[in-house]
Amino acid sequence: MRKYSVFAIAREAMRGHRGWPEQWSSPEPKKNYDVIIVGAGGHGLGTAYYLAKEHGITNVAVLEKGWLGGGNTGRNTTIIRSNYLYDESAGIYDHSMKLWDGLSQDLNYNVMYSPRGVMMLAHNVHDVQVFKRHIHANRLNGVDNEWLTPEEAKAYCPPLNISTEARYPVMGAALQRRGGTARHDAVAWGYARAAAARGIDIIQNCEVTGINRGPDGAVTGVETTRGTIGAKKVGVVAAGHSSVLMQMAGVQVPLESYPLQALVSEPVKPVFPCVVMSNTVHAYISQSDKGELVIGAGTDQYTSYSQTGGLHIIQHTLDAICEMFPIFTRMKMLRSWGGIVDVTPDRSPILAKTPVKGLYVNCGWGTGGFKATPGSAHVFAHTVARDEPHPINAPFTLERFRSGRLIDEAAAAAVAH
Ligand SMILES: Cc1cc2nc3c(=O)[nH]c(=O)nc-3n(C[C@H](O)[C@H](O)[C@H](O)COP(=O)(O)OP(=O)(O)OC[C@H]3O[C@@H](n4cnc5c(N)ncnc54)[C@H](O)[C@@H]3O)c2cc1C
Repeated sequence: MRKYSVFAIAREAMRGHRGWPEQWSSPEPKKNYDVIIVGAGGHGLGTAYYLAKEHGITNVAVLEKGWLGGGNTGRNTTIIRSNYLYDESAGIYDHSMKLWDGLSQDLNYNVMYSPRGVMMLAHNVHDVQVFKRHIHANRLNGVDNEWLTPEEAKAYCPPLNISTEARYPVMGAALQRRGGTARHDAVAWGYARAAAARGIDIIQNCEVTGINRGPDGAVTGVETTRGTIGAKKVGVVAAGHSSVLMQMAGVQVPLESYPLQALVSEPVKPVFPCVVMSNTVHAYISQSDKGELVIGAGTDQYTSYSQTGGLHIIQHTLDAICEMFPIFTRMKMLRSWGGIVDVTPDRSPILAKTPVKGLYVNCGWGTGGFKATPGSAHVFAHTVARDEPHPINAPFTLERFRSGRLIDEAAAAAVAH
C-alpha cells in the first residue's frame, strides 16, 4: 500500500495523479475463511481492520451486497458526539471519540474529523432540565458538555435566531466542544484500504442469502449470490437489514427498520461554524467542507426498506431550520436521500454474541451509529476474536431485552442521534 505523504502527493500532482495504485483489490471469494463479516459499512470494514490489526486474524472476508459504504455509512449526516446520558453509552461513544482523534493517522487516510462543536438547543423547561441533567452525568463520566445561555449560544453560532418571538424560542444549549463531523465516505474508504492492505478480502456485489449451520447448530458459513462460502465465525453488521440476516439463522432480534432522510443545500461559502441540533423541533444542521448545508430530520413514522421517505418530513424539517436560522430562508435545496435505520426499543445498540455458536451481531445503531464507528468496530472485533465481549460492549447484549437491564437513551433524550 502506497503511504500518503506530502512528498507522494506532490509527486503525483506533478504527473497528473496517474501513479496512485488501486486502493483495495476486488478478489474472488475463497472457499473458506476464519471470519466472515456481512456488511461493508464503516462498522463492518472497521471490524475487519481491527481483527487484523489488534488480533492478527487476517483470513477474513467482508461481504457486501452493493458497494462499500453504500448503506447508512455513505448516507448519514456525520454528527459525532459522546454526551449520552447513561454510563454504558458514555463508555462506548467516548471510546469512539478517542479513536476518532487519531484515526486519520492510524489509517494513513484523511477522514476529515473536525471537532467543531455540537450544540443541542433547549426550547422549553423540559429541555433545559434534561440537558442540564446530561451535563452533570457527562461530567461524572469525564465527558465534556457545558451549558450555554441563549446569548452564548448565538456567540458560538452567529446565524442562530434567539428572538423570544420564535415559535420555539432558544432557552439555552448544551455544547460538546469535542463533538463535530467527519467525512463519511472517507471513513469507509480509509478502513477498506487499511484492511485490504492487511490481507482482508473485501467482496462487493455479494449478497448473503442464507446462514449455514452444522448438526451441532454452530455456524458453518453463508450462502451468497456468488456461491457458498465457509466460515468458523460470522459477524452480522448489516444496519437496517440486520433482522433479515439474523432471521436466516433463526435468531429474533428486537429491531424495527425505518427510513431516515437527509438533504443538502446548494454550496455556499463558510457560514456555519458548528453543528446545531434541535430535538424538540427535530432538525439538525451543519456545513460540509464543500459548502453545502447538511440537514437531517427524524425518522419516518412507518417501517420500510425503501431508502426513501415522506416529503412532509423534509418540509417540517425545513420549516424548523428556517425558523432557527432565518438567513437560510432563500437557500435552494440540492438533493435529498434516505437510509434504513435499525432501531431497538431502548435506542441503544446490540454488540454481542448470539445464542448461535459462531454468530455475532453488531446492530441497532438506529439514527446515531456513525459517531460510534471506530469504537464499535474496535470492541466488536474483540468480541469476535475472543468469543467474549470487551468490557465496553459487555452491557450491550441481546439478553437485556429479556432481563429488563435496558440502556434507555430513548427515554433519556427522546432522540438518539
Ligand atoms: C439519513 C441518515 C442520517 C444519519 N445521521 C447520523 C449522524 O448525523 N450521526 C450518526 O452518528 N449517525 C447517523 N446516522 C446513522 C448511521 O449512518 C448508522 O448508524 C451507521 O452508519 C451504521 O453503519 P453500519 O456500518 O452499521 O451500516 P451500513 O453503512 O448501513 O452498512 C451495512 C451494510 O450491510 C449491507 N448489507 C445488508 N444486507 C446485506 C446482505 N444480505 N448481504 C451483504 N451485505 C448486506 C448493506 O448494503 C450496507 O452496505 C444516520 C443515518 C441516516 C440514514
